[in-house]
Amino acid sequence: MKTVKFEGKTEQEALEKVRDELGLSAIVVSIKKQRKRGLLALFSKPIVIVTAAFAEEEDNKDKVLKAAKKAAESAAKQNLPVMPDILDYKPPEGPFTVPYTQPPNFDEGKDIQIAHQKRTIQQLEDKILAAEERFANLAVAAGEKIEEPKPKYTNDMIRMFYDSLINQGVMPELAEGIIEEANLLATNNTSPDINLMVKIVYNKIMGILNEPRILVGNREDGQVAIFMGPTGVGKTTTIAKLSSILILQENKQVGLITSDTYRIAAVDQIKTYADILGLELRVIYDSEEIYKNVVQLKRNNEVVLIDTAGRSHNNKENIKELSGMLSKVPESDRFLVLSVTTREEDLLNIIKTYETISDFELIFTKLDETGSFGTLLNICFLTGRHVSYVSFGQNVPEDIEVIKPDKIAKALMGTGFDAWREA
Ligand code: GDP
Repeated sequence: MKTVKFEGKTEQEALEKVRDELGLSAIVVSIKKQRKRGLLALFSKPIVIVTAAFAEEEDNKDKVLKAAKKAAESAAKQNLPVMPDILDYKPPEGPFTVPYTQPPNFDEGKDIQIAHQKRTIQQLEDKILAAEERFANLAVAAGEKIEEPKPKYTNDMIRMFYDSLINQGVMPELAEGIIEEANLLATNNTSPDINLMVKIVYNKIMGILNEPRILVGNREDGQVAIFMGPTGVGKTTTIAKLSSILILQENKQVGLITSDTYRIAAVDQIKTYADILGLELRVIYDSEEIYKNVVQLKRNNEVVLIDTAGRSHNNKENIKELSGMLSKVPESDRFLVLSVTTREEDLLNIIKTYETISDFELIFTKLDETGSFGTLLNICFLTGRHVSYVSFGQNVPEDIEVIKPDKIAKALMGTGFDAWREA
């Protein structure tokens, strides 16, 4: 008995080589997959190596069997008696005579049959092994695909806070920082104090949402407040809201100035509000005029509010012009009005630009349009700026209020914008 190895790209290819070279009587001893050695092998497909055994003396038997088969076929064509199964066939010693009538010797046929059965069993075993290996690989691959990502936080309460912050648009790294301490408490205790966890998260958010520093109308000795910011964010509407609150709720005398003369509609808009509220309005076309008008208005009013032209913060000329105007009114409070609907990256750029010319408080508008507080929190965290007011609709004066960090913290922790509005 000799063994020979045959290589093929597939199992079938290798087996065909065995059959072609050794004939049907060869016994397949093993079928193995093998990768070539070396680094490049990682990128190559494995080859299949089939080891086949054969007995040299059986070569003749094979030839005889082939001849017998041919004879049987020819006999069948001539309508001669059907031959027994080829494997049971005992070949004659000498030249054939057809039809062959001598009863077959089953012993020799059985040897061949057993050899075939062994080979078949071996092949089946190898196939089962290969299939098992393939299934195992598939299971691993499938397992990797469908494996659920491990939840970041195991405590339900912590997960709820995290999800809520993310849903509100809080940056993931900030959300993680906010709940980090409470999460430690949750993971280091078998029954953590839930109230304490809530308190920790709440205080973290409150620490980011600064209390308002400056409000309109709060200065004892009168106040000049300048409103800056991009066009369309709601500067004029905010001024209208604040003026009416000061007049109707706080009985203050308010005077208005607008330098937003680039758009006729802008002047008309503030004029309409001034008429309705019975306020004195000055329209200035040159920043040189600002000081004189402020002085005059201050004589009769406790608060003077100044609307400025928005335009692009990228336009250096505009920023320079605004800077010139601010320098004429040094004793003024400045508010940068921003909409939470603006992309955070843009908000940061706008803030950076205005920081080059002035200090200011923030006013966030259009909270109603996003319904979330994430942007507000992210910007406070990233800039450390204080927010004085939040605006959440077009109704004058109802849809504005002094920022209440506690309300926003609670909304961020789960109740959301609607609950915030009702609170
Ligand atoms: P300005 O160019 O900055 O002066 O902006 P305006 O005051 O003219 O406002 C631009 C638009 O935004 C107007 O249609 C306002 O009614 C609207 N607006 C202002 N504030 C808010 C707000 O808080 N929420 C919503 N939804 N709209 C607002």
